[in-house]
Amino acid sequence: MLTKITKTHKFLPFAKPVLGKEEEKAVIQALRSGWITLGPKTAEFEQKFSEYIGCKYSVALNSATAALHLALLDLNLKDGDEVIIPAFTFAATANMVIHANGIPILADIDPESLCLDPKSVEMQITKRTKAIIPVHYAGHPADLDTLKAICNKHGLALVEDAATAVGTKYKKKMIGNSDDSICFSFHPIKNMTTGDGGMFTTNDKDKADRVRLLRLQGMSKEAWKRLDKSGSWFYEIVAPGLKYNMTDISAALGIEQLKKLEAFNVRRKEIVELYKSLLSKAPVRFQIIQPYATHSHNLFPVLLDDQYVSSRNDIIEELKEQNVGANVYYIPLNFHPYYQQAYGWKVGDVPVTEDTYNRLINLPLYPSLTNADVKYIAKCFIAILKKR
Ligand SMILES: *Cc1c(COP(=O)(O)O)cnc(C)c1O
Repeated sequence: MLTKITKTHKFLPFAKPVLGKEEEKAVIQALRSGWITLGPKTAEFEQKFSEYIGCKYSVALNSATAALHLALLDLNLKDGDEVIIPAFTFAATANMVIHANGIPILADIDPESLCLDPKSVEMQITKRTKAIIPVHYAGHPADLDTLKAICNKHGLALVEDAATAVGTKYKKKMIGNSDDSICFSFHPIKNMTTGDGGMFTTNDKDKADRVRLLRLQGMSKEAWKRLDKSGSWFYEIVAPGLKYNMTDISAALGIEQLKKLEAFNVRRKEIVELYKSLLSKAPVRFQIIQPYATHSHNLFPVLLDDQYVSSRNDIIEELKEQNVGANVYYIPLNFHPYYQQAYGWKVGDVPVTEDTYNRLINLPLYPSLTNADVKYIAKCFIAILKKR
């Protein structure tokens, strides 16, 4: 009986950053250094991030949203230009297309990887298509070779929404190490955090230079260099930029988190494997990890069997009653009123995304979750399904 489960557990949130003494010390050092916004710590973080990814250029920003915005501004979209995105993503992916003067066009996802389906993308290509934004859903890479071939065939740019994919690999190659534009997030629910923050990476020097310029007002020289003894007071505005830089406080945090990232991701994988073995007889299925994928397990999506679809929302509430913070990532973009009104999107447009969403529950996943926590969550989840 469900009611027999005793609430031995404190509330287990859906996600939680893992921050230790090292981060505290680094942030205090940054505070005392005399320079707390964009400066030497940010440069050091960028350098270390590039080394980790194996890419040539990293530009630190205040969010993945900022990275997407700058990556898209770099494409110089003109009114009416279209950018194809999956419907199964966070609002930022669509919103930044809109703020970069483009029209977001929805494509569906593959039912196994839950990432952008190249066949669906091809059906959406028109003369106005300028770019494709795959999302590496939950930390699983999109089918990049196939998508890249489509881009090459039609002369399109590729911008990767890698918000949940720090440490993800495609065919053994780290996401972020390419000539395209890659956008990472360091929001507290992602694989590593800087409070809030993001990183743009590329191996293309021109792209990196333009993003770097736009992140701080379009100034020919960045502020911290102007205030340095070796710097000069003179600068010129060479583009109408934004104010998207990372701060040195965040970068100090990021440097420490990056050192722990591999261990975090190993632990995330262990937790997912434990969940899968505990739920192996439950009436659910999982994202199918493709042969080309090294998954960074930012999220753990569970897909309910048909008979539970109508009670998905109740199941989430009942988990909460047992102190388990389940969630749903993401609500399909075509379900939101703004896009329905502005672009005529409607329920029914993307059947695989919608079917996935209707049966989706994301269970808690973060490195400090203990095996006992995972067993407790699985036990609650199974009991809640059984009583139906
Ligand atoms: C988290 C997330 C974002 C936004 O990241 P921020 O750093 O909060 O801007 C964008 N896209 C996807 C797919 C995400 O999961």
